[in-house]
Amino acid sequence: MRPVYSWGRLNASPHHVISLTDPTRAARQLASGLPGAAFGMGRSYGDVCLNPDGVLWLTAGLDHLIAFDDQTGRLVCEAGVLLRDIQRLAIPRGWMLPVTPGTQLITVGGAIANDVHGKNHHVYGTFGEHVRRLTLLRTDGETIECGPLEKPDWFAATVGGLGLTGLITQVEIQLRRADGPWLDTETIPFAGLEAFCSIDDVSEANWEHTVSWIDSTSSKQRGLFMRGNPAKGGEHLAPSRQRAVPMALPVSLLHPRLMGPVNLLYYHLKKRRTGSVREHYESFFYPLDNLLDWNYLYGPKGFFQYQNVVPRAGGLDAVRAMLQEITRSGEASSLAVLKTFGNRPSVGMLSFPQPGFTLALDFPNREARTHRLLDRLDAIVREAGGRIYPAKDARMPRALFEAGYPRLQEFLKYRDPGISTGLSRRLMGS
Ligand SMILES: Cc1cc2nc3c(=O)[nH]c(=O)nc-3n(C[C@H](O)[C@H](O)[C@H](O)COP(=O)(O)OP(=O)(O)OC[C@H]3O[C@@H](n4cnc5c(N)ncnc54)[C@H](O)[C@@H]3O)c2cc1C
Repeated sequence: MRPVYSWGRLNASPHHVISLTDPTRAARQLASGLPGAAFGMGRSYGDVCLNPDGVLWLTAGLDHLIAFDDQTGRLVCEAGVLLRDIQRLAIPRGWMLPVTPGTQLITVGGAIANDVHGKNHHVYGTFGEHVRRLTLLRTDGETIECGPLEKPDWFAATVGGLGLTGLITQVEIQLRRADGPWLDTETIPFAGLEAFCSIDDVSEANWEHTVSWIDSTSSKQRGLFMRGNPAKGGEHLAPSRQRAVPMALPVSLLHPRLMGPVNLLYYHLKKRRTGSVREHYESFFYPLDNLLDWNYLYGPKGFFQYQNVVPRAGGLDAVRAMLQEITRSGEASSLAVLKTFGNRPSVGMLSFPQPGFTLALDFPNREARTHRLLDRLDAIVREAGGRIYPAKDARMPRALFEAGYPRLQEFLKYRDPGISTGLSRRLMGS
């Protein structure tokens, strides 16, 4: 047994860890100690990728690129391949992933199991929309091939299925055309949520990527709206050098009292450099990947990420209420990101995105104080008819999960009884 953390580093639970490297041996390995759970890069923040006191199947060794057709953009790979490696293979050949989250250091299997989204949801939807086929290995040894046209019910259960329907071993993805590695971007400061909405409304028609940083410590709800479109041509750069936080710090550097001045400084520094800039895709899509292990900055107690989505109707009031609640609590969020999801139905029964506003907030773990605040945010989300993102969750109440995911009962029929996670036990009872 050895301790394993997820990205929030809330607690290191003991796990019996098994590395998967060969899909033909995986069936035997899956049967060797139940129940188990797949673990990609552990970039989920809470317990969706953990199985405390149980077995974890590490998938990073299932990392073979199997076929790539540079005429059609179809890629076949094993599920442990990193999005980073797909981007670096495909972009110089004129293709790229249509959907990519704020880190490229995740596996294809993890991207499907959480049906991840990027900054272009209004144009390309979620990751699962671009998967054409996948192979699912169940713990009883059965193999299921599924896709949007083949066993679509299994596909809809597995995309966004939180790793609970089986182990994804192989995947076929449709990439999209890319004219190069650069984007034309703009940053626009705003003050107030109405101003955010006006910029967002005009941007969604003409910009592929939209996202905002918001200062959750200020009652003015000021922020920076960032938008980008793929640019044509440009040089392919060698990957930039990454820095790393060398070790877990003994205390959190992100104390709520520091967050006000830090946010203010960030806002004014960025505001001075607003306007149009040509930016490399790695720094635009994945700014946090430049500092490896940045989660160590939160010290030994770790941190919570709280991402919710609330429907458009009444959603802005809910976002405002959450920001006011945070300011009142004194539990400042170290990073707050606001964006909108478009009107694209998600593939998965439990996919998180739904049309509306999505707010993602990071809070250092200050135990009861943080839990009290998050409980109050839950009440606002529930009242607004919203839901919480399981990929980021470590504590949502079961009733809120059930209210937010109306297809849960349908999904449960597809669960693999040999798979269990901290999250599934907390929210589904097993
Ligand atoms: C800096 C940062 C930015 C992020 N930005 C975004 C964002 O913009 N949008 C977004 O949607 N998410 C975002 N995330 C969350 C992240 O993209 C997801 O949590 C993703 O699922 C992590 O993938 P992973 O490979 O690390 O999988 P893990 O976190 O290890 O596992 C995630 C889930 O996938 C399952 N799983 C993994 N591999 C397999 C497999 N082969 N078969 C079956 N199940 C499997 C696990 O059991 C678990 O349920 C961000 C995370 C970080 C750290």
